[in-house]
Amino acid sequence: MSEFCIIGSGISGATIANLLRKKHSVILFDKARGPGGRASFKRIKGKIGFDHGTQYISPKTNEFKKFTKILIKKKILKVWGGKHVFLNSQKKEDKKHIKIIGKNGNNDISKYLLKNINCNYQSELIKIYHKNKSWHLFFANGKHYTFKCIILTCPFPQLKKLSRKFINNSFLKKSLKMDANITTMIAIKKNMKSNSSYLFEDSILGWAGNENSKKRFKSKYDLWTLQSTFEWANKKINQNKRNKKENSKIMIDKFFQLSKIKKTKINFISNHGWKYSSNSKPFKIKSFWDPKKKIGVCADWFVGPRLESGWISAQDLFKKISK
Ligand SMILES: Cc1cc2nc3c(=O)[nH]c(=O)nc-3n(C[C@H](O)[C@H](O)[C@H](O)COP(=O)(O)OP(=O)(O)OC[C@H]3O[C@@H](n4cnc5c(N)ncnc54)[C@H](O)[C@@H]3O)c2cc1C
Repeated sequence: MSEFCIIGSGISGATIANLLRKKHSVILFDKARGPGGRASFKRIKGKIGFDHGTQYISPKTNEFKKFTKILIKKKILKVWGGKHVFLNSQKKEDKKHIKIIGKNGNNDISKYLLKNINCNYQSELIKIYHKNKSWHLFFANGKHYTFKCIILTCPFPQLKKLSRKFINNSFLKKSLKMDANITTMIAIKKNMKSNSSYLFEDSILGWAGNENSKKRFKSKYDLWTLQSTFEWANKKINQNKRNKKENSKIMIDKFFQLSKIKKTKINFISNHGWKYSSNSKPFKIKSFWDPKKKIGVCADWFVGPRLESGWISAQDLFKKISK
């Protein structure tokens, strides 16, 4: 029996799994088809695909800077050399912070950290209970396992549903709003005049990133990842599965209108709705660990809305477990 069971293969789950495996036996489950969570890469052919969650990693803390530098040396990550175009008058490019991306996709960090870990995908945890010093975990595929220790890394609303009977800490009683995001991915005719990415000042479209600017693949098309504003996605997300075509069309029309790129045939289109994309207000604690029941939680939302936040939370949890 593995000692630690970790739920989630995003940066938080992958980091804590990697740290724990040095001293403990670890097994990981994720409901998705592959690793990365909100930093997933949607592959469409060979190396060609889209970072449809995290676009760029901009390290802020010295510890995380050090970590990303090591991964750049190991050729897992690389520095992004593109240029942002700010069509939003409020924001200016922050030239102090470099922008880093995965060599093949932004889930490369998770892949690297989980290299020697037993990972089980398409395994959605639906219920947990604690009895006789053991955790009983029930999955949507009908499987049931027992572990001594569990670590959860789900978005806050999902964590609350799963664990509220077992976690007695004030952070779980608070409410934390996580905004939605709707992402539309398109492949269009190559336009040599296109920029690398745009930040818009618009009520619907927030951001557009040109995947070709990441120089991971050669394609006869320009691949654009279009990300909505939170406000628009919050209103649309519950019906997005039903209205994918319509929502994508609204975003694509906005993209051509605002970027002034010549409207052209769409050769590929895909839409992904993130119900819990990011949070605005962090908690006072960076992670949670109950040493008696042996349940832990780490996730970006403890610390902030960025990938680095998940890494910081996992490092903090590891310190608590090791005490
Ligand atoms: C559209 C979008 C754009 C973003 N852009 C950026 C950016 O440019 N830069 C940046 O730094 N950050 C960005 N972020 C934020 C960044 O993606 C997150 O902060 C980070 O990925 C969170 O990592 P995590 O491991 O805490 O959570 P997640 O990545 O969400 O990992 C949680 C994992 O748990 C799994 N899971 C959840 N519930 C269950 C369950 N019941 N059973 C099994 N598995 C479960 C999920 O499938 C998921 O893989 C963006 C996010 C989104 C959505």
